[in-house]
Amino acid sequence: MQQDLEHLLEGQGLGVSILPGKGRCLFAASRDFYPGEVIMRQDPYVYVPGNSDGESRCDRCLCSGKLSKCSACQVAWYCGSSCQKSDWNMHRLECKALAMVDKDKRKFVTPSLRLMLKLYIRRRLQQDKVIPATVWDNHRLVEALVAHMSELEEKQLVLYAQMANLVNLILQWPDIDIREITESFSKLSCNAHTICDSELRPLGTGLYPVIAIINHSCAPNSVLVFDERTAVVRAVQHISKGSEVFISYIETAASTATRRKALKEQYFFDCLCIRCAKMGTPDDIKESAILEGYRCQDSRCFGFLLRDSENEEFMCQECGQARSKEEMGKIAGEEKDMLEEASTRSNHALSIFKKIENLQEELYHPFSVILLRTREKIIKILMDQEDWTEALGYCRLTISTYERAYPGFHPLLGLQYYTCGKIEWLLGESDDAIKSLSKAVDILRVTHRANSAFVNDLVSRLDEARAEAYYKLSQCT
Ligand SMILES: [Zn+2]
Ligand SMILES: [Zn+2]
Ligand SMILES: [Zn+2]
Ligand SMILES: [Zn+2]
Repeated sequence: MQQDLEHLLEGQGLGVSILPGKGRCLFAASRDFYPGEVIMRQDPYVYVPGNSDGESRCDRCLCSGKLSKCSACQVAWYCGSSCQKSDWNMHRLECKALAMVDKDKRKFVTPSLRLMLKLYIRRRLQQDKVIPATVWDNHRLVEALVAHMSELEEKQLVLYAQMANLVNLILQWPDIDIREITESFSKLSCNAHTICDSELRPLGTGLYPVIAIINHSCAPNSVLVFDERTAVVRAVQHISKGSEVFISYIETAASTATRRKALKEQYFFDCLCIRCAKMGTPDDIKESAILEGYRCQDSRCFGFLLRDSENEEFMCQECGQARSKEEMGKIAGEEKDMLEEASTRSNHALSIFKKIENLQEELYHPFSVILLRTREKIIKILMDQEDWTEALGYCRLTISTYERAYPGFHPLLGLQYYTCGKIEWLLGESDDAIKSLSKAVDILRVTHRANSAFVNDLVSRLDEARAEAYYKLSQCT
């Protein structure tokens, strides 16, 4: 099977190599790839709906909206009979098993537990030839994934073992191997991907065992996006023949220390990418101090601050002014109190987040991602309240940070231009809308499928804005 897969990848100009200390790597083996080109696409081996906001989604197509529960198990949701029918092959065994679980205990059947149930059900269905197995779609690919069992903390191991016991209790198959399921939970934790819509909102989780071969870089040359539930890897830089293909597993707009910690904790490796290789150099220290560090006392100065040798003050590396740890600690304390308040008083979220923003403006560098995240929350609330004028002001404030933090073709940068352009258009600022939407198109045409509904919608908004500007111009002359 492995040879068949390699043969198939070869046909697409790709190759898999095993490098010592790194494991499997995907290469552009026999050709170059250019920005916007699809490197690889794969349907999930198994997937499950579920996102952080707990909204129900169709088990088959992951849409939200008008859904009905599967009457037998009361766990799965469907948008209609066509999705329910196409999912029945997979859901039949799961439904039967879930229906046997006590009704009040079914709420403990979390998305990750369901993903595991589906993993074992799919393996069985392929063994019994109810569902065909192919080179891209078979359990052997799952077996080849790394599990990192020896690196797991005791606490995590116990949790996975408890979850494996639950899977066993639900399925009640005689030949089940709890140790193997425990290992599979660990595999899912470092190999499964969050499925997102075109605007990068999470919809669910899926396992794509061939995509999982692609290694991480904090400055990746490709991006993973989703076309419905199909994972698509697209080049965002020129990848020359012989180079390794990289995607990013984590948020890349973070200091080197933060990125390396996240990668070590969830994926168990020390990143050796070109960005991490600069760790400790003056460039890297400066970049990290801007992304997560403090601002200069002088509000007109954009210098970054570093701790002095006595560890009592922070010195601006631009103008030499010092800020005392005590003064900054006081603001940080107020910020912490406010953040706690935000989590408990959600009905006053806007005014609380604006207070947090004020404190963070005093504390952090103007291009800090901490400040950026707070402003993103404020934009979301303002847009929900349809306060477009203020939302646009905030959106524009974030653009320069986005441009710094996400170089090149990054979907988040494209999406932020898109949001800005949509609001400008809504407020009748068509010249600005054209500029923002054009920038969005330039980026999102590379990261997303050019003729997808999402990109078509964006392009038609841009055409509309251009037509209106042209009309206005013709009226003036
Ligand atoms: Zn559906
Ligand atoms: Zn059911
Ligand atoms: Zn890295
Ligand atoms: Zn300064």
